Amino acid sequence: MNAPFLPLTRPDIDEATIAGVAEVLRSGWITTGEQNRAFEAALSEYAGGRLVRTFSSGAAALEVALRIAGVQPGDEVITTPLSWVATSNTILTVGATPVFADIDPVTRNLDLDQVEARLTPRTKALMPVHLAGLPVDMDRLYAIARAHHLRVIEDAAQALGARWRRQRIGAFGDLVSFSFHPNKNLTSIEGGALVLNDEAEALLAQKYRLQGVTRHGFDGMDVDVLGGKFNLSDVAARVGLGQLPHLARFTARRQRLVRHYFDCFERLEGGAAIKIGVELPPRDFEQTNWHMFQIILPLQRLRMRRADFMAKLHARGIGSGVHFPPVHLFKLYRARGFEPGMFPHAERIGASIVTLPLFPAMSEEDVGRVVGAVHQILQRDSKDSQAILV
Ligand SMILES: *Cc1c(COP(=O)(O)O)cnc(C)c1O
Repeated sequence: MNAPFLPLTRPDIDEATIAGVAEVLRSGWITTGEQNRAFEAALSEYAGGRLVRTFSSGAAALEVALRIAGVQPGDEVITTPLSWVATSNTILTVGATPVFADIDPVTRNLDLDQVEARLTPRTKALMPVHLAGLPVDMDRLYAIARAHHLRVIEDAAQALGARWRRQRIGAFGDLVSFSFHPNKNLTSIEGGALVLNDEAEALLAQKYRLQGVTRHGFDGMDVDVLGGKFNLSDVAARVGLGQLPHLARFTARRQRLVRHYFDCFERLEGGAAIKIGVELPPRDFEQTNWHMFQIILPLQRLRMRRADFMAKLHARGIGSGVHFPPVHLFKLYRARGFEPGMFPHAERIGASIVTLPLFPAMSEEDVGRVVGAVHQILQRDSKDSQAILV
């Protein structure tokens, strides 16, 4: 009997949360209200008591963060080309200029030397991404920001549960943005949150997420900033609230599965006649929340393309994904002057990276099956295998 299809990821929502959602639906109040306030309080506790406000998406939280940081037309924001396109799109949305810096090929995160090389008098903020939940070097990042009086907007969409030197991502720093998209380590169906520095920023966040409105008394209402429609429903907040107590367990489970990924790759590679030569991520179990387990294919040694590899995995009942194609090569960005060759590490990795299945409900056997399939597909296709087989 064939094993059931193994998806790239799958949210893990318990029965108590499902019952809680039904209660909210019956309560008569389903948009932003009590559940959001409770979710914000729980997230604030998670973030060491810092203020948190919820949003309808991670992208919305990023956009509001840029507005709170005062990023405007004429300003430059330095960010990574290897991210979900929302990161740089939000910079464009507020009318500012995204300035890309290349990534470090080992961590796959922003190369901070490259960031320093791209500072100009117009640089207003740094927008790093903790890709796959591996934190950027926060000591060095914030040292650069302090030295040049820059705001930092951490795109921590993938980093809930990650740590830097034992401190939770979100519990320190400047503005920190999370996403609760179903693929992330914790979900509210769709949603996001922003960790803020003080009451004034929290108030501004509330205005920006709902048309700039402030109310007072029974009939008082005013609008003093141009806000949008970025609030989270109480139905969604109740899902997030039900997930949060499981976060530590989810992260521990992901780490266990990733240890098994490393063991399986090492065992197979050690005993193989033909080394498949995939690049694995940094082996870190102190800081990374293991949002994703991503390998880099040795495309120069293969006859097939990445899409063929993914199709072959799919045919073996295994899902995979690409996170991410390099943003600067999308049409919208090429039209702004970006072109191939500008960020060689991001281009090579963006063209050859593959995300393998990883989610808490997966089993160790699933991991073994994935690595076995990867190995078999790559060995059969390797240019070296011709030589050995004849
Ligand atoms: C998921 C994600 C976002 C955006 O989150 P949404 O909730 O989907 O808007 C932003 N940046 C990164 C790096 C992400 O992975």
